Amino acid sequence: MAAVRLAEELAARDDIALTVLSGEEHAPYNRILLSAVLEGTHAPDALTLRSPAWFAEHAVDLRLGVRVVEVDRGAGEVALADGGRVPWDRLVLATGSVPTLPPIRGLVRRDGTLDPRVHAFRSLADCQRLDAAVVPGQRAIVVGGGLLGLQVARALAARGMETEVVEGAGHLLAGHVGRAAGDVVARDLRRLGTEVYTGARAVRLEAPGLRLDNGHLLETDLVVLTAGGRPAVSLARHAGLMVRRGVVVDAALRSVSDERIHAIGDCAEHRRRTTGFVPPAWRQAEVAARVLAGGSASYDGRRTVARLRAPGLDVAILGEPGAEAGEVVEVRNPVAGSLRRLVVDGGRIVGATLVGDLSRVGLITQLYDRGTLLGPDEPGRLLLPERVDAPVALPDTAEVCACAGVTAGEVRACTSLAQCRDSTRATTGCGGCEAAVRSLLAGGRATGSDAVREGFPA
Ligand SMILES: Cc1cc2nc3c(=O)[nH]c(=O)nc-3n(C[C@H](O)[C@H](O)[C@H](O)COP(=O)(O)OP(=O)(O)OC[C@H]3O[C@@H](n4cnc5c(N)ncnc54)[C@H](O)[C@@H]3O)c2cc1C
Repeated sequence: MAAVRLAEELAARDDIALTVLSGEEHAPYNRILLSAVLEGTHAPDALTLRSPAWFAEHAVDLRLGVRVVEVDRGAGEVALADGGRVPWDRLVLATGSVPTLPPIRGLVRRDGTLDPRVHAFRSLADCQRLDAAVVPGQRAIVVGGGLLGLQVARALAARGMETEVVEGAGHLLAGHVGRAAGDVVARDLRRLGTEVYTGARAVRLEAPGLRLDNGHLLETDLVVLTAGGRPAVSLARHAGLMVRRGVVVDAALRSVSDERIHAIGDCAEHRRRTTGFVPPAWRQAEVAARVLAGGSASYDGRRTVARLRAPGLDVAILGEPGAEAGEVVEVRNPVAGSLRRLVVDGGRIVGATLVGDLSRVGLITQLYDRGTLLGPDEPGRLLLPERVDAPVALPDTAEVCACAGVTAGEVRACTSLAQCRDSTRATTGCGGCEAAVRSLLAGGRATGSDAVREGFPA
């Protein structure tokens, strides 16, 4: 996804000959919506970000199904699995991440292949394989209760599978939110018909099902592994670039070991942090494109916004999960299944967790992004649900699409949805901002709550 954004930024330049090498057979697509394909609401083709024809029209040499096996820094070439070599003056690594295999005995058979019941969920090929294995009424277990696991669990449940989630930590979304918020999400999932086991590790896959470390056996026909991923760094490591968790880059997204090589997206590590979300990947692509085009730009990487796209489950997380330095203001409604929590330091929002009720996420994101100084009563007021009888028109500077970083003003300057998609890329990420974008284009008063729904199509 980062590489497509880079190609879009550089496509207009005739002084740069760009080649994109992709290991996958499909034209670059929107991974965020894979769970929508699994759920059956989107066709695989609807996920295409840019077609091969678009790359051809913009003189970008797109090569699909081509695996890079080595970066030869001395020769300034990459070696391909089919024996070919491609020369480069500048190289951008946008290799994403790879799913990690949790330590569960029986996942891998003696011949080294995965048990046929076991599935990963990272690519369209994984999604199509899982899709073919879905049988309504049969049982499925999702191992890993993070953002990805919850998306998959909701999609499988929507397809009529008896779905259960197993999470080793004490609560869901443990990498992002505290226990109270995780428990609200678990309650929401159960309400939607999905059972949740937290504080229990899957240890062995047996003939009838998955054995947990507390001795329980969960019978199952299908196991989906969503217990985490790690940046795909093997090319960089073998090329002798500095790699910690990701490929270590400076603020220009250049490898600290070789200024001819950039890394962007999930595989990059900036200021000791890797990301794993589309908005930072796209921002990094924009910065790298400017630098490659001879300009100067820098990525500060401070902003973290994570949103969960899954039907019936609304979660937004701003800031660092551990950024607890500051005052906490929290409103919980366990009956309605909502929790809103702000962490405020020196009068500024440094973190927020919103579960269930996202009616203020647009405004809160804006205040967080800008580091706006709040008055003493404001944090409390922000956590109250928006009054529907008092809509506030979004100011031009309010961000409507977090994936592509598009403001209300930029949308208002467009003449149609198609033109808006093409020129700003709004609605092409998670797609949840479409209602707000349509309303703004129609001259309507899109409100804070329209922006909120971004990332969470109904
Ligand atoms: C199911 C799912 C749901 C997600 N939902 C969300 C969400 O709701 N919100 C959000 O912000 N993020 C979400 N993400 C994360 C988001 O998709 C990633 O952050 C984003 O795709 C990162 O972009 P990237 O370009 O770094 O990597 P990718 O999009 O993964 O692209 C990397 C590409 O490099 C290719 N590649 C790797 N190695 C080689 C090689 N040696 N030779 C050739 N090609 C190679 C891979 O095949 C792949 O096509 C989701 C991810 C998944 C899998």
